[in-house]
Amino acid sequence: MIPPGETIGILGGGQLGRMLAKAAAQLGYRVHVYAPEADSVAAEVCARFTNAHWDDAAAMAEFAADCAVVTYEFENVPVGPLKALGSVPLHPNARALEVAQDRLNEKEFVEQLGGRTAPYMAVDTREDLDAALTRLGSPGILKTRREGYDGKGQWRINADHEADGIAFSGQPLIYEGLVRFSAEFSVILARGHDGRIVFWDSAENVHQGGILALSTAPASDAVLAQVEEARALAAKVAEGLGYVGVAAFEFFATADGPVFNEMAPRVHNSGHWTIEGAVTSQFENHIRAICGLPLGDTRLAATKVEMRNIIGEAAEDWAAILADPANHLHLYGKGAARPGRKMGHVTRLTF
Ligand code: AMP
Repeated sequence: MIPPGETIGILGGGQLGRMLAKAAAQLGYRVHVYAPEADSVAAEVCARFTNAHWDDAAAMAEFAADCAVVTYEFENVPVGPLKALGSVPLHPNARALEVAQDRLNEKEFVEQLGGRTAPYMAVDTREDLDAALTRLGSPGILKTRREGYDGKGQWRINADHEADGIAFSGQPLIYEGLVRFSAEFSVILARGHDGRIVFWDSAENVHQGGILALSTAPASDAVLAQVEEARALAAKVAEGLGYVGVAAFEFFATADGPVFNEMAPRVHNSGHWTIEGAVTSQFENHIRAICGLPLGDTRLAATKVEMRNIIGEAAEDWAAILADPANHLHLYGKGAARPGRKMGHVTRLTF
């Protein structure tokens, strides 16, 4: 067990790190953020900040020397440089990163455990894409295997001829057939050192332009009917990875049952509602899990909870949002409100 007063290292400097750091501070921990970008919104609420590249082994070793445990808020941290952490424990482990960093690995791993995914094929060249279109047909979505997020690195192919417009840069890709779903939902769990797993209520998620717009809990009956099967798969993945911490699994609710879309080996945007909407938030339980503390109650703290993301210029409406006393406003302290950039979120509870 890592007792309060110790230092927790967080790899990655974005809003997830910021909210993790706040939860860690509540429990009496110090936080040290390591991030390659100088303007880290997580570092602003932390005791220490190392601003260095991922492959700076000396900086990574010095960071590790200050930490009792290290975690990450960004799943694209390269795995190789993590060797410099030496004997300092990393939770979730590097295997979880390796699986979740690559859409192909992730789908194969989930299929081995009996999960259903969208039909897919790995694509490296134009010939591969033609073969995938012949086998899986269109419409479909071509995605980068690595580093895509919020709809970035994705190309919708509505008809086979649209393949002509794709420029291949040598990046490994995956083509997925389009899944017909009635709703999207996520399963978020925390797994402790002792293997105990707790789940939050599954939020029903609405995406706009590939970016999460709205999460609602509890989900509709159509989703609720599929949650048990989705949870069983998520638990198998967490067990298979020897996972410690919070993990999120996104699913499509389809006529054939839950179809796994992707996993995040970290706290997740579709769990931000848990800060006010659950007895214990995903951020607090992540800190508890990685430090070996008992996990907190995940039950809903209201009859209904709604979380809306604040994207781009919508952040300028902060005064109007605050004018409604039912709104819990979270702004991440980011500078420029670029289109598509997640600037904050607002949560509403109904009692
Ligand atoms: P992703 O980055 O893979 O989570 O994709 C972002 C969003 O695009 C998902 O939440 C879905 O709304 C949509 N999407 C992605 N892949 C598929 C698919 N194979 N079939 C249908 N919709 C998809």
